[in-house]
Amino acid sequence: MTLKNFCKIQINDKNKIKPRRRSGLLSPFALNPGKCKIHFEGTNVKSKIDENVIYQALINNEFLRNVLTGSSLQKLIDCMYEKNIEAGDTLLEQGHINSFLFVSKSGTYKVTENDKQTDLFGGSRVFGEVAILHSAKASQTIKAITKGSIWVLDCIQYKNITVNSHVEKREEIVSFLKDVPSIRRASNSRLYTLCDLFHEKFFPGTSSLVKEGDIVSDFIIVTSGTATILTRERNRKLDKLTRGCFFGDYIFQKETISLYTILADPPGVECLVISRKEFLNHFHDLEHFLNRKSSISPTEASTKYAQLQLKNLKKIKTLGLGGFGKVELVQDSRHKDDIFALKLMKKFEITGHQAHIDQVYNEKNLQMACNSDFIVRLFRTFRDNKYVYFLLEPCMGGDLWNMLRRQRRKCFDTDTAKFYAGCIVEALGYLHSRDIVYRDLKPENVMVSASGYLKLTDFGFAKKIALNETAYSFVGTAEYVAPELIQNLPHDRGVDYWALGVFIYELLVGNSPFRNEEHNDLKTYKAILKGIDFVTFPFIVSPRARNLIKKLCKPLSIDRIGCQKNGIKDIKIHPWFSKLDWEKLSRMELEPPIRISLNGRTDTRYFEQFREEKEDVVLEDFSAWDKDF
Ligand code: ATP
Ligand code: MG
Repeated sequence: MTLKNFCKIQINDKNKIKPRRRSGLLSPFALNPGKCKIHFEGTNVKSKIDENVIYQALINNEFLRNVLTGSSLQKLIDCMYEKNIEAGDTLLEQGHINSFLFVSKSGTYKVTENDKQTDLFGGSRVFGEVAILHSAKASQTIKAITKGSIWVLDCIQYKNITVNSHVEKREEIVSFLKDVPSIRRASNSRLYTLCDLFHEKFFPGTSSLVKEGDIVSDFIIVTSGTATILTRERNRKLDKLTRGCFFGDYIFQKETISLYTILADPPGVECLVISRKEFLNHFHDLEHFLNRKSSISPTEASTKYAQLQLKNLKKIKTLGLGGFGKVELVQDSRHKDDIFALKLMKKFEITGHQAHIDQVYNEKNLQMACNSDFIVRLFRTFRDNKYVYFLLEPCMGGDLWNMLRRQRRKCFDTDTAKFYAGCIVEALGYLHSRDIVYRDLKPENVMVSASGYLKLTDFGFAKKIALNETAYSFVGTAEYVAPELIQNLPHDRGVDYWALGVFIYELLVGNSPFRNEEHNDLKTYKAILKGIDFVTFPFIVSPRARNLIKKLCKPLSIDRIGCQKNGIKDIKIHPWFSKLDWEKLSRMELEPPIRISLNGRTDTRYFEQFREEKEDVVLEDFSAWDKDF
């Protein structure tokens, strides 16, 4: 299928594509490898010829070519080990979790889908490639039909190596920055943001890094090689710049004229560079960079329901099912006016998975500290031997995913989309001003309150972005993830703006822009890496909306609208939002486009109806990871 056809199918064949709730993904780095069905062991000693064969197979793979950079490609090859295969061995099994990337070396392999043979191959070929992002269910079965051998990559090992090398590199740059007098007072989170703005530049031997009399507009740190400082008068050598030395730090305050020339010594110098323009694109000025306060205090959480006990809560109805449990509408039996949504998460499914435990604690700490009309309030949590519980503000308009599907044309008109997108901009603005990146925006995680306004919920993937390795983890939902997540690069709040572009498109069109009819994650990632310019926009998307979506879905986070010095203000003043009164929206004084009509506070008409069966048997769990929950 050509790319053109592929895009058309996304838009026009809406009815062919079954609507499906999309669940969030976690990287294999965070998952328990014990869950994987197949285990491999072998040797990673390989000849130059083998390395070449693997290299060719990897770069001929369209997906990996876009994900891997030069050094990560070599590391990936180094981590691969060889495994002999017997006829009949199953390498991938359709529907089972796979955490390995394979490159066949010899032998013949049969590919089947739903028990029908779809391909037969020999020679060197890559398969299982989505596993380098996250442990995914295989969409095909691949069996060896002859003896042979394959190269195997354990993706957790690969992830460890790439993440560690990113972390080490950032640590090192930040340690350099802490030696720069004009900026070393900045908070760690500021220095890490700055460090992500640097790019590498090589100056060949005898070329000049800067010339005497020129305007200095770059701040440069030497990372390898040496350079010599000269003054023209008397052509005198003043000093040598070696690894960790820098110059041009005054560009953070103003542009100046260089008093000397700096020449790269042969064979050349490798440097990290940032220009004054790039710095000012992100920060108003040096003061803004140095003084920004960022705080979020979990003690802000409400104490109103401190006396409430779990046994006082009576279930009225099930409102929704989620990844780890369910959400119920409950009533305080002592104060009948107090109605809540209670989210129950099964402990035994969380126990033993550190990533899931972190996710649950994140959800508690971050959501409870939020106090915004555009975010579902988390009043308090409980625990017992079966569940951890989240006591939430109930949102009786149901979730936006259902609301979208209830529309006659399965999409919203422009004014409705604008109002709903406006609510999400308010929510993201609130979170980002507290340095929280949400990381899982999608209609399934947005609730409609009885007032008709939207509220964000499900903080499982939210994260306070500071110096911390999980800013590298692959989290989110396939159709909504930004390219930097697929490429395993560090990420920041830009991932939320990317997702906002996808979200606005989905509100207006009814489908997200990068999806495909088979719900195949790999195809989705390929489409995301190709970019928004390859997506067909149906005529119902106005030029202004298209312009905003394209500005939000720029491939580089730093280029996205919302990521520059004016932050989210740039989004609010975009022409697509010109008729939205932001002041009134923030005070909830605008009439919502869709009114929620309810017959009392416990009316669940906006929710899917679940058969209220007898209570499930849920295993008890005494592992106590939640003792301070
Ligand atoms: P998943 O893993 O699928 O994302 P989850 O376990 O994180 O799910 P949520 O997304 O928080 O769970 O909630 C699941 C569903 O429960 C929602 O889609 C919604 O229908 C319902 N729900 C959640 N929170 C509320 C609320 N505050 N008020 C009313 N209904 C809610
Ligand atoms: Mg959810």
